[in-house]
Amino acid sequence: MATMTATRSEFLIAKEEQYGAHNYHPLEAVIERGRGVHVWDVDGKQYYDFLSAYSAVNQGHCHPRIIEALTTQAQKLTLISRAFYNSELGPYEEYITKLFGYDKVLPMNTGVEAVETALKLCRKWAYEVKGVPGNQAKILFATGNFHGRTLSVISGSTDPSSRGGFGPYMPGWEMVEYNNLAALEAALEDPHVAGLLIEPIQGEAGVVVPDPGYLSAAFRMCREKQVLFIGDEIQTGIARTGKMLALDHYGIKPDILILGKALSGGVLPVSAVLANDEIMLCIRPGEHGSTYGGNPLACAVAREALQVVLDEKLADNAQQLGEMFRGALNELRKETDLLTLVRGQGLLNAIVINTDEDSDLAWKICLQFRDKGLLAKPTHGNKIRLAPPLVITEEQLWDCVGIIRETLLSF
Ligand code: PLP
Repeated sequence: MATMTATRSEFLIAKEEQYGAHNYHPLEAVIERGRGVHVWDVDGKQYYDFLSAYSAVNQGHCHPRIIEALTTQAQKLTLISRAFYNSELGPYEEYITKLFGYDKVLPMNTGVEAVETALKLCRKWAYEVKGVPGNQAKILFATGNFHGRTLSVISGSTDPSSRGGFGPYMPGWEMVEYNNLAALEAALEDPHVAGLLIEPIQGEAGVVVPDPGYLSAAFRMCREKQVLFIGDEIQTGIARTGKMLALDHYGIKPDILILGKALSGGVLPVSAVLANDEIMLCIRPGEHGSTYGGNPLACAVAREALQVVLDEKLADNAQQLGEMFRGALNELRKETDLLTLVRGQGLLNAIVINTDEDSDLAWKICLQFRDKGLLAKPTHGNKIRLAPPLVITEEQLWDCVGIIRETLLSF
């Protein structure tokens, strides 16, 4: 009897299943190489990457300039900790603060660490500057948010799969409905409220773009009540939505800006919190930190990753191709009932599939995308985020529109 031999992909998937925790449910594609908008699986099949590691590889996979910065710095010094000064940190801090227009930056590693940092800063500021009585500061979280996975951050989540079973939860977080100004106005009446943590577009929720006036009004209302507007631009920032920051579309400069993901172009975890002195200097030596935060390797990489975004005008590309892409998808809506909605800004887009959230239709569509050479993944059941690296060309984007069209029309 012939014995069945597993393919290399099957072999590697089985290893992850057996030896890795089951906290993810990946689509079956085993990737071993990436360059620009493309990735290749272990069998050599080429794909367009339409997830971009949740917007971490805005600059494209293995961008040669970022890899060069990584390898050059890796041969000199990778880590010294903040117990001493290092040659890369100061120049990077100057670069990033001048680029985004803040007095100071606090470097961290993962996105959620930067969110935690912003929350701590906000509480400290509440007590030291705003004058909220000790331990009574409140911070507002928006319904439908995603800010990461720590206990404190999931305490402000409304997503049962993020939050369920992990209580007890952090006190002092209050929920306000996203995109609802009346709800925000009511919440801001409480004088103990010190901050509003908000994503300009809710990425994980399925690229939920608020109404045009919402963010500007929310920012103004926070100002009036001496409440910090904390912008989580971990997914929307660094050119993804067609400007350097999504809040730039509205001329809003958040009191605290949180960046991550594409800050390193997908090379290593680098995140940052930016604020002016009145806020940032509320944290003093010994009160916050991280062994790897501000390490020389991260600083060298982040500086180059940001400069690549500027030199290659990736925000402009995202803006122009994003409009073209949504236009093409909206045309497609005329050809099929499968698409309920197309939404997004720049190259952060999603399609909503005409089915309920529990259906596996979006998953099946993504499997077909994969077979045709495009990687995307459903979020919240019936939404598929479509977010290629920002280095994508017009010709490549039309190629992808073809794949998406052919797939959707085949259902
Ligand atoms: N904030 C937003 C808006 C995000 O999209 C994410 C991750 O997807 C995070 C925070 C958490 O980032 P990390 O996974 O690097 O901790």
